[in-house]
Amino acid sequence: MAFSPSATNLPILTTIMVLLGCFFALAWLRDRRQLYNFSWTIAYLLGAAAGVLLAMRGTVPDLLSIGAANTVALLANGVFWCGIREFEGRPVRPFLAALPAGGWMALCFVPAFYETYPLRVAYVALAVAVFGIVCGREIWRNRRRDPLPSRVLALVVFSTHGAFHLVIVALAVAQPHRFGASLQDSPWFGLMVFERVIQIVALGVILIGLGKERAERDMHRLAMTDMLTGLANRRAFFSRAEAALAQTRHGAFILFDLDFFKAINDSHGHIAGDRALAAFARALEIHAGEGAVLGRLGGEEFGCLLPAGDIGAAADLADRVRDYIAAMRMESNGRVFRMTVSAGVAEIGEGGLDGVYARADAALYLAKSRGRNRVELDDAPVDLAAAASDRVRLLGA
Ligand code: GH3
Ligand code: MG
Ligand code: MG
Repeated sequence: MAFSPSATNLPILTTIMVLLGCFFALAWLRDRRQLYNFSWTIAYLLGAAAGVLLAMRGTVPDLLSIGAANTVALLANGVFWCGIREFEGRPVRPFLAALPAGGWMALCFVPAFYETYPLRVAYVALAVAVFGIVCGREIWRNRRRDPLPSRVLALVVFSTHGAFHLVIVALAVAQPHRFGASLQDSPWFGLMVFERVIQIVALGVILIGLGKERAERDMHRLAMTDMLTGLANRRAFFSRAEAALAQTRHGAFILFDLDFFKAINDSHGHIAGDRALAAFARALEIHAGEGAVLGRLGGEEFGCLLPAGDIGAAADLADRVRDYIAAMRMESNGRVFRMTVSAGVAEIGEGGLDGVYARADAALYLAKSRGRNRVELDDAPVDLAAAASDRVRLLGA
């Protein structure tokens, strides 16, 4: 972002930057953990200040309208880049961010540079091009870990911005006479400021979009995740299981329920109980592997759908988890305790998810009544309609 002037577009550019600066300031005041909004506030306000200084060319000493204006403009680029890194959760690099501005200040003391207008243009445009390309790369690098639809738009804007300024650098070096002798008589200013207006507006909209997309995604994740175990909650489990079953009508389902869990809470406290639930969830994740749909369905009840497995594979998995849990030692206030789990296993059949849930529940009931710490398979025909209506009643309760 070089903040180059133009008699007509400069007030527009400066006003837009002040407005965007205010917008990001408000966003930061709403949630101060989002430091990138603070950085973008500073960047846009510095950009606006640079615009004002540049517009005063001829009316204030050149030291201000050339030296200081471009220093502030390049600092604005650096702070903006810091904001992008904060948005991506990467450490900011203040020294690197300030380097182009520092370089500019040093070069201003070299008369051969300071008095040659195309050289000044080339330096500022090169710094802006590098910032544009680096910002585009930062945004694109995280696309898989944090997929946000507007990333591609940001990449397009940063890349075209970078490419545009590389062309300016090439022209300023190869054909300096095209740039005139000073800002006032350069035919390129109109185009440079016009590009900047478009880029600032597009980027502002995209940055706001990126923030909103991330917030929406986080809200959705929060609404679908069980906070204690990190597994899918009941709602998310059923929606993911239905989606998996829409692809295949085969598979098997395991319903786990920790044994005498109330007693664990009573003897070791609720916090120890919470830790036991989280430990069970980890064990389930480790054993179930990729492809299984897992979820915490209620207090100490967990579901595992194996869309690619049969009842035998599910029973094996359930027994491995049961065995692992029975051998696991938990500790609370220096006291060691153990827990066990029971499981009911059933194969997907005519009744779909509702049916298999009801049959796994019946098998689980059998495991409990046969002494717990065991896995039972559904092999008895059950009244599917009655079982499904039981579940509807439970969900409504
Ligand atoms: P059973 O072997 O028959 O399953 O006995 P149980 O004690 O495990 O079953 P019951 O349904 O009587 O008790 C479940 C207990 O789980 C009661 C409740 O306090 C506890 N519980 C439910 N959710 C949580 C939770 O989030 N944290 C903790 N610590 N305990 C929970
Ligand atoms: Mg229980
Ligand atoms: Mg229970």
